[in-house]
Amino acid sequence: AKATLNQTICFYEVSMDEAARGRRALANDLWEAVEKNQLALHYQVQKSVTTGEVIGYEVLLRWNHPERGMVPPNEFIPLAEECGAILPIGEWVLREACREAAGWDSQHKIAVNLSPVQLANGDVVSLVHAILVETGLDPKRLELEITESTIIDDKQRALLTLRDIKALGVTIAIDDFGTGYSSLETLRSFPFDKIKLDKSFMSEVEGSPQAKAIIRAILALGHSLQVPVLAEGVETQKQLDILHAEGCDEAQGYLLGRPAPIVSVVGVRTEAA
Ligand code: C2E
Ligand code: CA
Ligand code: CA
Ligand code: CA
Repeated sequence: AKATLNQTICFYEVSMDEAARGRRALANDLWEAVEKNQLALHYQVQKSVTTGEVIGYEVLLRWNHPERGMVPPNEFIPLAEECGAILPIGEWVLREACREAAGWDSQHKIAVNLSPVQLANGDVVSLVHAILVETGLDPKRLELEITESTIIDDKQRALLTLRDIKALGVTIAIDDFGTGYSSLETLRSFPFDKIKLDKSFMSEVEGSPQAKAIIRAILALGHSLQVPVLAEGVETQKQLDILHAEGCDEAQGYLLGRPAPIVSVVGVRTEAA
């Protein structure tokens, strides 16, 4: 029994070691991902529920790792936040997305995800400003998506930074709304420009009267604050019909368009790359 126990411990330690080594290796690779041109942006359309017109595109990061293939953002973004690589990566995302959108014929918006680590970094306001100047993108066309966890960490400072970003003419959306425990508190403390209803509500809306009641309440809340509400993760026509009936403003999800490289979502580019 003792031998088995020792073996178990050894095996456990070895696999922990490997997991840790794997993470370290991945973190190292992350620092080089920008320079080595391994990052790519995908864009997912956001549409008006009532008119179906395109409002903008959410920018979603992809990492094409030479050995591991496509690493999904949920696997590498937390790691990039831990090791600090999110700063150069986030800067690259912002610059690329603004440059891309500035070249479109349309005036559609781009919605870029901003990590709490980026927001906590003192330079974020001047960075956003510099990139807008450099790319010539109209600030009104840039929306930054932040989650509530972004604000919880150092609330006063985060709110001041968001205020400075808004003063540039950029809009701020609150992402994954309804999943945090302090949603109402967050809404009360900052004038957000959009509420993004977390996609977990969509997966439940057809079967759960509770989910539907909460969606209805969030829509009422958004509308009394005069803030549009966007539903994420819309996959079926039935879900879209419910959103329409409930008066939801905007929608995003596989039904309306999957995230894809820009050429396939907007069509032929106006300029040669
Ligand atoms: P998110 O900001 O909530 O982004 C929406 C996620 O939902 C995306 O996953 C998108 O592909 C997925 N999605 C879109 N429509 C549907 C649908 O109809 N059904 C379902 N089930 N999913 C749908 P993705 O691209 O894997 O990104 C995951 C998360 O990684 C994002 O969640 C965001 O938190 C983070 N992320 C992605 N790009 C960036 C970035 O450039 N910077 C930062 N800081 N985070 C990013
Ligand atoms: Ca988002
Ligand atoms: Ca979201
Ligand atoms: Ca998320």
